[in-house]
Amino acid sequence: MKFKHLLLSVPLASMTLVSCKQQTVGTGIDLANLDQTVSAGNDFYQFATGGWRATHPIPAEYSRYGSFEVLYENNNKQLRELIETVASEKHAVGSLEQKIGDLYNMVMDSVKLNKEGFEPIRADLEMIEAISARGDVFPMMVNLMKKGVRGYFSFYIGADIKDSKQNLLEFNQGGLSLGEKGYYIETDSATMAIRDGFNLYMTDLFKMCGYPEDVAADKAKAVLEIETRIAQSSRSATELRDPESNYHKMSVEDLKKDFSGIDWDTLFNGIGLTAAKEVSIGQPEAIHEVENILAEVSVEEQKAYMQWTLINLASSYLSDEFRARNFEFYGRILSGKQQDRPRWKRSVATVEGVLGEGVGRIYVEKYFPAEAKERMINLVKHLQDALAERIQEQDWMSEETKKVALDKLSAFYVKIGYPDKWRDYSGLTITDDSFWANLVRSNEFDLKHMVETKLNKPVDREEWFMTPQTVNAYYNPTTNEICFPAGILQPPFFNMEADDACNFGAIGVVIGHEMTHGFDDKGRQFDKNGNLTDWWAPGDSERFDERAKVMKEFFDNINVLPDLKANGSLTLGENLADHGGLKVAYCALQNAMKENPLETKDGFTPEQRFFLAYANLWASNIREEEMRRLTKVDPHSLGRWRVNGALPHVDAWYDAFGVTEQDSMFIPKEQRVTIW
Ligand SMILES: [Zn+2]
Repeated sequence: MKFKHLLLSVPLASMTLVSCKQQTVGTGIDLANLDQTVSAGNDFYQFATGGWRATHPIPAEYSRYGSFEVLYENNNKQLRELIETVASEKHAVGSLEQKIGDLYNMVMDSVKLNKEGFEPIRADLEMIEAISARGDVFPMMVNLMKKGVRGYFSFYIGADIKDSKQNLLEFNQGGLSLGEKGYYIETDSATMAIRDGFNLYMTDLFKMCGYPEDVAADKAKAVLEIETRIAQSSRSATELRDPESNYHKMSVEDLKKDFSGIDWDTLFNGIGLTAAKEVSIGQPEAIHEVENILAEVSVEEQKAYMQWTLINLASSYLSDEFRARNFEFYGRILSGKQQDRPRWKRSVATVEGVLGEGVGRIYVEKYFPAEAKERMINLVKHLQDALAERIQEQDWMSEETKKVALDKLSAFYVKIGYPDKWRDYSGLTITDDSFWANLVRSNEFDLKHMVETKLNKPVDREEWFMTPQTVNAYYNPTTNEICFPAGILQPPFFNMEADDACNFGAIGVVIGHEMTHGFDDKGRQFDKNGNLTDWWAPGDSERFDERAKVMKEFFDNINVLPDLKANGSLTLGENLADHGGLKVAYCALQNAMKENPLETKDGFTPEQRFFLAYANLWASNIREEEMRRLTKVDPHSLGRWRVNGALPHVDAWYDAFGVTEQDSMFIPKEQRVTIW
């Protein structure tokens, strides 16, 4: 299981130290983004972002459109320019530029893609169809896994959470086309409509691969039955948040004994894992159910499932007809998008997916100024000091725990902009056979890279889990690192023209958010070395849990739609991180203002501008389908609730806007979360 905690629809806003500049510094607040016809205390989200939301309708290709997506669009244009320049020139075969250019052009070549239809996967489909013996099913699945087609379960090599300097091979639940188990078992009408849509989607794709209607329908039925069985024994996104219960380390000998229904020798031989000595089975129930399926379900039905995993994965990369049918289900039905992204954006995304750090290297040379890194280092330091101060001030935490917490805080490994060493793509061949064939080679290349650099090897702390051009940020507990890629460190989020109030309210809260993940309900279970271990003094954990429970219950009671509640357990870690981010960044602003006092400007005090800048990060419009989808799968709360759910727990917000019990967002002091 991967443990990164992303910021998701991230934001970053401005900079500190701007105040020493001689030129005029603005507030960074655009009054047109506000809707001052409502009162701040009744609906702060509308007050702070109503103007923005009224003037930024959701484009047809989006299911959600906000500040984050605006920045993503800008980044995409920059990347397009870089990649198209490379693609228009001739380069030596085997060079990074040749690979970037050829791959981009290949995705743009609709004539070739449409001529090929499903030809690029036909041989594999026929090979699966030819199977008649049960003993040939699993070897075929291993064959597909090597190509990146992962049915039944998933695997990964990453830091051992109880021996974090060392990597460990992990097997986890997987094999679900819809990702989250709820889609297979919930019986509300919206979910049932999605299941019907999924069934039709499968039937259509089988038909498009040449199967007659009745055969296609039978195959779809078989797939849904197998995936439903896996789903029933899988854990929910909330259950997956508990690291201890998703860790079961054992020797390979014990693995073969305890999970004897899976032919591990074939798997290890096929994938190059024969040197593995230990593994962790994340979710034993789901893997046991796969053993049952392999033994009980008919060969014909399992063939349908294997064919499906291949067709479904490939469908985005075949002809326009396949791509359109894939979009109709995953884009329109599941997320509410009205139309697919233009081809050039899909090309950029493909090059990003296959050669991400290669593109990143060119990107940072052009778009990431060295001084931005300097300034971020400084800002992170401000936030680190403020969090230390907040930890010291907590009366529910013992001196003993505080000491270890401060130790963990000062041990944070900070990554800013781009990695010091870059991935080498020289072993990857990009050539003009088919788009799908190139993706398969890329998957094989990535798998080989993971096995060669990680199996039985120590953890490389210099590895980046995001490319530099990514518009996001993360905290990773096993390396105790926070990472802010170059992609997010630019206007409108990284704005040197704005003053400290705006900067601390935006990028400051983002930094504080990532830092707080080191101390949220999950992150607090890891020590400064990244090991899952209980370092909290007796009583402190209980006091933390009591406080966290207030947050969980508050969000459990939020209606995101008239018939849909938020999930306080799934979003607890992120809500705590938003809470901590706000408290810590506010404290950092107060500290900064002791040296550089700020005045009321544009009609708002510095404290008010801090909260306006924060809310502005989450300005967004979203479709109902996407609200339902995210509520099922996303550990982050929806934008509206990252504002209207977070601020009622921050005392300083009440003071800044004079919010009283007359206002509808008011909650009594004793009902507020009091952690940081
Ligand atoms: Zn987060």
